[in-house]
Amino acid sequence: MSIIIKSNREIAIMRQAGSIVATILELLKLQLRPGMKTKELDVIVVGELEKLGAKPSFKGYHGFTANLCVSVNDEIVHGIPGERILHEGDIVSLDFGAIFKGFQGDAALTVGVGKVNPQAKELMETTEGALKAGIAVAYPEARLGDISAAIQNYAESRGYSVVREYTGHGIGREMHEEPQIPNFGLPGTGPVLKSGMTLALEPMVNIGDWRTKLGDDHWTVLTADGSLSAHFEHTIAITDAGPEVLTIV
Ligand code: MG
Repeated sequence: MSIIIKSNREIAIMRQAGSIVATILELLKLQLRPGMKTKELDVIVVGELEKLGAKPSFKGYHGFTANLCVSVNDEIVHGIPGERILHEGDIVSLDFGAIFKGFQGDAALTVGVGKVNPQAKELMETTEGALKAGIAVAYPEARLGDISAAIQNYAESRGYSVVREYTGHGIGREMHEEPQIPNFGLPGTGPVLKSGMTLALEPMVNIGDWRTKLGDDHWTVLTADGSLSAHFEHTIAITDAGPEVLTIV
């Protein structure tokens, strides 16, 4: 498989898919409150997707049963919404993808439930900063490793670690296209970036060690050392003018 270059027309559709994803994530953010069960978020997503005429990317993917991933505290990614009750001070990673007119949008953010402690707040800010640092170097003729290195350096220079076993990815008609985009790497290495590439960048950043373990449900990925983790993701297009974030309202 190789990296698929999108036309302007295809990117315009991905802009619509991305806007739907961002709209729903913003809504979920506003709805989060202590005492809520994580499965309530899934119900909201179903209703909003129907209103907006889009389909969920994750439901049925390798047998995943929900419409979004909800990962709490030391859970990194792929948490399944269910009976878990959210408490004041939890941090919740919401990862959500939608399909619109045959194209995918994929984004994630971590948000605090009520008031969170300063360490958790700083973790979330750092992870979002790492994503922005990766996006900032996504210009035509840069290399994929420049993105990976920018993300890694941003997080590690602040004393955090980046998850290594899970990566960003190309995206388009398929949720996961070439290339894989590790959140660590060396500048000046990897494929050359071209205008028309559409990529999902998604740093997962831990307060402690980068190592992970798989939960009992065989989906949820957790930090091996039990430390807090955050996750931010955007789908972007590389254009002649530079990076364009597609998953915005
Ligand atoms: Mg993704």
